[in-house]
Amino acid sequence: MEQQKTNIIQTIDRMQHELLALSHQIHDHPELGYEEHQAVASIRSFLEDRGFQVETPYCGLDTSFKVVKKGKGPGPRIAFLAEYDALRGIGHGCGHNIIATCAVGAFMGIASLIDEYDGEVSIIGTPAEEGGAGKVILLERGAFDETDYALMMHPSGGGSNLVGRGGRAATRIRVSFHGKAAHSSSPSNGINALSAAIHVFNQIDLMRSTFQVQDNINGIILEGGTAANVIPELAKCEFSLRAETMLRIKELIRFVTSCIEHAEALTGAKAEVSVEPIYAERYPNKPMCQAFKNNMESLGIQMTWAEPGKLYGSSDIGNVSIKIPAIHDYLSITDDKTIQSHSKEYTKADATPQADEICLKGAKGLAMTALDILESSEFRSEINAYHDAQVPKEYR
Ligand SMILES: [Zn+2]
Ligand SMILES: [Zn+2]
Repeated sequence: MEQQKTNIIQTIDRMQHELLALSHQIHDHPELGYEEHQAVASIRSFLEDRGFQVETPYCGLDTSFKVVKKGKGPGPRIAFLAEYDALRGIGHGCGHNIIATCAVGAFMGIASLIDEYDGEVSIIGTPAEEGGAGKVILLERGAFDETDYALMMHPSGGGSNLVGRGGRAATRIRVSFHGKAAHSSSPSNGINALSAAIHVFNQIDLMRSTFQVQDNINGIILEGGTAANVIPELAKCEFSLRAETMLRIKELIRFVTSCIEHAEALTGAKAEVSVEPIYAERYPNKPMCQAFKNNMESLGIQMTWAEPGKLYGSSDIGNVSIKIPAIHDYLSITDDKTIQSHSKEYTKADATPQADEICLKGAKGLAMTALDILESSEFRSEINAYHDAQVPKEYR
């Protein structure tokens, strides 16, 4: 096993320049969710140049893909998950260029030795994590039906390498209120769509003291009229909802929906509502996390266990972690504690020599953890038993 881990490290080191070129290429061409055509093309040509067949579009999504390398017989099917979407106006401020490159590097590390094992290794390209719920759509279309274990990493900052971190459930609600325009000198001739929108905000704030500690609803107004002397006929707003569980998110959706209905009844404006698929809370698989932690520590990266119950953010890996054992652990790409994720400063930090070094180590750590899974049926039993005990029965 140790010799095989050394082989993985050497394989990834041999292609480090090409892997980092891929990371920088994705970084320098940020694309929003479901528009990641250049990122997928770059990953695809990297893999095709090395003799792999890439299936894309995958499950009907143009910017999803899957590549598989089979071992000598049937066995555990391990997928590395790649994300590659960026943030509007910020670029790769969440470091998904590094996630994608780690997945590719880890795949290459395992592909070089899978011939000796039963099982298979793949990369599943998962678009639109930052909004659009790519993994939720992929799950609905069966993209993970032939996968037993999902592994990915996520860049973090401030020197914080967290393992086993959870994530809250989340969704977004978008509302358009349609009213009737009128001269502002006689507002009673119109229906004020902006008033309806503001009423939704006020009702949410009124009830905020009844929220649970983990609940959060935050809203923005996207459109609220065009001139102050015209009664707005259209107002658009969007709300981000977070809660400890998917079940609680469903209650919050009902609450916001009732606020919208009250605003309609009060003002006469008509609402058009769309709710994004729910990002589930996360169930990190502890045995897999422990293996990843051990492997990263053998590469010189110390990791700490995350505290449970903190006000963590959300990701669609949560939905995957309900279906199959999954990890999504955090590797810091900068020691600067003032640099926050989702900022332009973080975008710059994602392609520095320090970020590059972590990217290669992340790829190695993921591949080494996949090797642990391939090597030991006892370890797989431990992972599977933990998963079965951890995920609530009502989700099965
Ligand atoms: Zn993000
Ligand atoms: Zn992210």
